[in-house]
Amino acid sequence: MRLIYTVVLKTFKTLPKPHRTGLVIASVFLGGLILLPSEPVEASRHQESLVLDAGVRYPLELSVLDTTDVLVEEDDGEWETYSVGRGDTLAKIFKRAGFSARDTYDVTQAGELAKTLVTLIPGDELSLRASEDGSFSGLRYAVSFKETLRIERNEESGELSAELEAKEFETRYSFAQGEIDSSFWNAGVDAGLTDNQIMHLAGIFGWDIDFAVGIRQGDIFNIVYEENYIDGEFVGYGDIVAAEFINQGERFVAIQHDDGNYYTPEGRSMRKSFLRAPINFKYVSSNFTKARFHPVQKRWKAHNGTDYVAAVGTPVMASGDGKVIEASYNRFNGNYVFVQHGEKYVTKYLHLKKRGVKKGDMVKQGQTIGYLGSTGMVTGAHLHYEFLVDGVHRNPRTVELPKARPIDANQKDAFMKIAEVRLQQLDNTKRIMLAMK
Ligand SMILES: [Zn+2]
Repeated sequence: MRLIYTVVLKTFKTLPKPHRTGLVIASVFLGGLILLPSEPVEASRHQESLVLDAGVRYPLELSVLDTTDVLVEEDDGEWETYSVGRGDTLAKIFKRAGFSARDTYDVTQAGELAKTLVTLIPGDELSLRASEDGSFSGLRYAVSFKETLRIERNEESGELSAELEAKEFETRYSFAQGEIDSSFWNAGVDAGLTDNQIMHLAGIFGWDIDFAVGIRQGDIFNIVYEENYIDGEFVGYGDIVAAEFINQGERFVAIQHDDGNYYTPEGRSMRKSFLRAPINFKYVSSNFTKARFHPVQKRWKAHNGTDYVAAVGTPVMASGDGKVIEASYNRFNGNYVFVQHGEKYVTKYLHLKKRGVKKGDMVKQGQTIGYLGSTGMVTGAHLHYEFLVDGVHRNPRTVELPKARPIDANQKDAFMKIAEVRLQQLDNTKRIMLAMK
């Protein structure tokens, strides 16, 4: 699967995003999805995203909410623009503009934000405005592609005040779909995702899916993600706002709430007490085979653990919060670390090159507790990972784990509204992709 399609929802929002997705939704003015039923586009993504107004209206009417956008009011004073040259200071530019040293001083005293003006960058531009008597009355300085510093004189008090103005920012939603053939990474690349997006996608499902050894040929993912535009120009990717992953026939769905966290469509956190894999999949070599039964899984019964083959020195993470109950060396395990999680659970990490924690240490989920190696009785470098429940070895990929926490009750309604829209977007993606096969 190497095609991506882009659908543009007509949404606009202003930066900064205090509440990420929620703002998007809250400020969406969208009159239904306009789709592009045209030709598939090759997955070169930067960013000829196909925007077709072919007039095909999606059957789903997404609800339309009020916009919260703030429009920049245009005032009609006379603005002059000055380029910052090498060695230029605010004082020099003010002098060129015919303003007094007093004006320069007042501007630099216009609050914390005005301190930006102490170091001007050559090539940047300052716009300055004079009042009728020739004295300074306003300044604009683009401090980044999305933020402009504005200093204005209050007509009544005569005081100067500074504020940062966020540029109007357009968010478009794109879709990508992938089917795993050779590896998850390759499927992500083929779907047109960036490295970051691929890592992010694995991160979203890291509590449900073992991306290091649990991915199979035929696994499928669908995602909806943000793209940011300013004045029609692509300026970067936003978040993945919805994702679906079908792993070995099991379906997982994650929706981003406006707090930035991901939840199931029913409103349970994607975060759980254990990561499925204690190692980042990107380090794991040959993590995939086309064999119907993965050798790692077959071997699991034989030796009560999962082996992760990766380069010596690869960081090994605690799969959950807990306390280190053993950190030592023997000739079978090599360097090993055992972690106790609550009453019931113990995880074990063997053959480490180096231990990163000591007995008695408290560790956090995802914290590096050692580095993969080939110490002890091994034929090659790998991490041997064991998961015990009440002292009994269990398969970490399939073991029943404590249920994830539900979203805060006072957030539930807001989340369910977002989830509804996101699920429709995901659904639409799939229908488009299906129609185009
Ligand atoms: Zn092993």
